[in-house]
Amino acid sequence: MTAFLLKPSRVWTSGFDAPREGVAVLVRGNKIAAVDRANAIKDDARVVDLPGATLIPGLMDLHSHLFLHPYNLTAWDDQVLKESEALRTVRAVRHAKDTLDAGFTLLRDLGTEGAGFADASLKRAIDSGIVRGPRLIVTTRAIVATGSYAPQRKNYRPDCCLHQGAEEASGIDECVRAVRHQAAHGADWIKLYADYRVGANGETVPTFSLDELKAIVGTARDLGRPVAAHSMNDEAMRRCIEAGVDTIEHGYSGTRETFKRMAEKNIAFLPTLTVTEAISEYFLGHTRGGPPTSRMEEAANAFRLAREEGVAIGCGSDVGPFPHGESYRELEWMVKLGMSPREALEAATSVSAKIIRRDDLGHIREGYLADLVAVEGDTSRNISTIAKVRLVMKDGVVIRGGET
Ligand SMILES: [Zn+2]
Repeated sequence: MTAFLLKPSRVWTSGFDAPREGVAVLVRGNKIAAVDRANAIKDDARVVDLPGATLIPGLMDLHSHLFLHPYNLTAWDDQVLKESEALRTVRAVRHAKDTLDAGFTLLRDLGTEGAGFADASLKRAIDSGIVRGPRLIVTTRAIVATGSYAPQRKNYRPDCCLHQGAEEASGIDECVRAVRHQAAHGADWIKLYADYRVGANGETVPTFSLDELKAIVGTARDLGRPVAAHSMNDEAMRRCIEAGVDTIEHGYSGTRETFKRMAEKNIAFLPTLTVTEAISEYFLGHTRGGPPTSRMEEAANAFRLAREEGVAIGCGSDVGPFPHGESYRELEWMVKLGMSPREALEAATSVSAKIIRRDDLGHIREGYLADLVAVEGDTSRNISTIAKVRLVMKDGVVIRGGET
């Protein structure tokens, strides 16, 4: 069995006030075998010295789209309508590699956006060792109410066969069927869109009725699949909470009362702060570091309310519209908007692990799976060092770095 003794300058993991110095981590096979003072571990493992670096648990992004690439290069409609599933899959393979190289060892990928069930196949290819990528939790096509997603039919001639970015469903029967169909094709979670900008004047309005949402959640529950809900509109968020979803994505217009209900019902929040910056840059004339757009202010406000009401906040960036490998920007945003570096690291490790119900990931502790990242400097003090990755290990395998 391959064994590594990682010797960073410090080890950070959730549950400690400060990173521990002079501590080494022994990895045997795919598990963490010991975390102790460096000189207390007697072993013939291969020693990997990481002077100056902080060892942290593998990072997680719980809101990604591996089958999308930045909208400033190709508009979303064009990706969905003009790129074949094969081309999009090839891109996704590269995106998966870029993600893992950046220290993100797990993604919850929330919909292929018109690329069918290809995410389930990509996951299989990664798990079989054909290509390299993070651990994947996949949702396949995602579910939308009929006519409430995109490409929007009103923008095209009505006799076009307009391939949609998600599976359409209306009424209890179709909602139940869509959940069963997606689970059968490999969905680990069910992703639904509870609202979209299809109001009479393009405003964001609830799309599914409460009964439809309940049918989706109930069917997913029976199949052991948790539910992630895209929801920005406050009324749609309330319906999702009542229906019993597991996570709410975006939540930009959520009120204090709504976030309070989320905390009471233990529904986690993925704030997707970075995507609002990216969209603002592409379409609203925003320059990075400049004054926020109203959309960015809304996202910041939702993040603040969720924190004040004690909602569990994981790391979910909505990467895809901005480049894969840059999910770390979400941690920088969380710190910019009030979290300590430690809280942001917890969001992307232990809190996210809890949201996806994994008690073998997200910590550097004996017995946990060996998903580990070494970053330059003390990232628990300076979050921007999160972009400076020196070593990545997934499941006990060194992906990047590791020179002895
Ligand atoms: Zn998304």
